Amino acid sequence: MNMYRLHELALPIETDEAALRNAAAARLRVRPDQIRDLSIARRSLDARKKTVLSYIYTVDVALGKGVRLPKSVLAKTERTPTETYTVPESGREALPHRPVVVGSGPAGLFAAYLLSLSGYYPMILERGDDAVTRTKKVRHFFETGELDTSSNIQFGEGGAGTFSDGKLNTSVKDPGGRGRFVRETFVSFGADPAILYEQKPHIGTDVLTGILLRMREAIEARGGEFRFRSQMTGLSTSGGRLRAVEIGGRERLPTEAVILAPGHSARDTFRMLENMGLKMEAKAFAVGFRIEHPQAMIDLAQYGRADARKLLGPAAYKLTHTAKDGRGVYSFCMCPGGYVVNASSEAGHLCVNGMSYHARDSANANSALLVTVSPSDYRSLTPTGFEDVPESLAGLLFQRSLERAAFESAGGNVVQQLFSDFERRVPSSGPGGYASCLKGRGSFGDARSLLPDFLSDDLAEGIRAFGRKIKGFDRPDAILSGIESRSSSPVRILRDEGMEASIPGLYPAGEGAGYAGGIMSAAMDGLRVAEAVIRRYRQPAAES
Ligand SMILES: Cc1cc2nc3c(=O)[nH]c(=O)nc-3n(C[C@H](O)[C@H](O)[C@H](O)COP(=O)(O)OP(=O)(O)OC[C@H]3O[C@@H](n4cnc5c(N)ncnc54)[C@H](O)[C@@H]3O)c2cc1C
Repeated sequence: MNMYRLHELALPIETDEAALRNAAAARLRVRPDQIRDLSIARRSLDARKKTVLSYIYTVDVALGKGVRLPKSVLAKTERTPTETYTVPESGREALPHRPVVVGSGPAGLFAAYLLSLSGYYPMILERGDDAVTRTKKVRHFFETGELDTSSNIQFGEGGAGTFSDGKLNTSVKDPGGRGRFVRETFVSFGADPAILYEQKPHIGTDVLTGILLRMREAIEARGGEFRFRSQMTGLSTSGGRLRAVEIGGRERLPTEAVILAPGHSARDTFRMLENMGLKMEAKAFAVGFRIEHPQAMIDLAQYGRADARKLLGPAAYKLTHTAKDGRGVYSFCMCPGGYVVNASSEAGHLCVNGMSYHARDSANANSALLVTVSPSDYRSLTPTGFEDVPESLAGLLFQRSLERAAFESAGGNVVQQLFSDFERRVPSSGPGGYASCLKGRGSFGDARSLLPDFLSDDLAEGIRAFGRKIKGFDRPDAILSGIESRSSSPVRILRDEGMEASIPGLYPAGEGAGYAGGIMSAAMDGLRVAEAVIRRYRQPAAES
């Protein structure tokens, strides 16, 4: 059956599906009842003219039996491309033991899912707890400040994405259809099908938890195995290749293929790998603060009318600015109707991040407001006493020094400051015209001093510039919370064309390895690495 793809159908946001069908029929010069099937391939919001907010659609259309397009229309109408994701054929090399996946974040989980679909019975090692136990521990941490360093916002089933906004946008090119496969998999495990076509799809932490449980069950049903509270603490090699992983410093698990997807916060794991001589390099990342505003203010600035939220949901933004000193300042991981969270995973260290529930119904919008730092900055920015640290881990140490200062500045509470006080270099004593939506304990004080002065100046310059794009962004009582230090990994583990690290048999994947920057890109990278394992090895025996 022929399907036709139509682009750029613009309709006011209030219109229904019948109007879309009419618009498609008019474009194809057929009657609406001659369209047998219509599905939305993509939908994005056009808010450039605030007086008429429109959705821009890309749709796929199938015509009824015997309906022909006029020749002139046919000549300029595209056929719907096929975007089927294809799993490679299994290789020939023997795999005496089942592959091991370290980490159950999006990269590890999707790698394990693909391996299980292809008959490889993966063993998944996760240092944190299962999602239900982990959720209780995170709640306890928010209430008491008592941190479980193995099970927290960063560590545990689902990885760093579990307590997130669940935004699924990515700028990664996707000719192989991996992104589509990831989103279809999320839908098959309970996500709203709208994530297949929305330009800015989002799941929400509450819905994500259920999806994780169902994905785990599906992997287990195909012979995969999850082990929680099972940290990979070492790797054994002999004959120039990987032979086993060590779990919890005690147990040895033989394997010839390990997908290493530990996320960007596994600092002890990076150290262990560095001690083994694994080839890694420091990479650029960004640091800054979470900034909060009333969501109603952002809605008005973005939509031009207060009632649009009912139809469109709370508004998002994405902002960039080049500071006078040439550094990039930008908003990142924006959470409409979200919460700022204490996202710490190391005792005596503190960092923040943002999350939302599916409904995105808190009173505030928040985003990370970041400025870039490069490997050449790290040495000069990190306090003295770290001179013996290898070059590859210098970024990680810079992060740790910021997070230690953040922890100490407010006795383990998230330190917050109003923008006017941040600019005047005075501590804040409390909120201004609205309260912070914070998960975890917070104290108003001096957030600015957490960063070197020139980086705080860049951020203040950026906030002023963003105030010219979004009215009120630079309001005096905008709330800054610190420190936002884990926007991406400070290291990259080098891998070759076959996706292997400098230790043969080790396959680094996802954000911690330096190949992803969010849920989608991590999941897609997990698939890419699992494909490399499948392409090379034949399936192991079930009981191996
Ligand atoms: C609060 C928050 C909100 C976010 N919101 C979004 C969002 O809305 N959209 C988006 O795209 N991205 C978001 N992100 C980023 C996103 O979550 C990450 O980019 C993504 O999870 C990275 O996936 P990953 O699988 O590479 O690593 P991770 O998700 O970090 O998973 C790594 C896993 O490995 C485990 N692990 C580490 N070391 C070991 C070891 N030695 N042995 C065993 N297990 C180990 C960890 O416990 C962890 O579960 C958010 C992150 C946070 C913290």
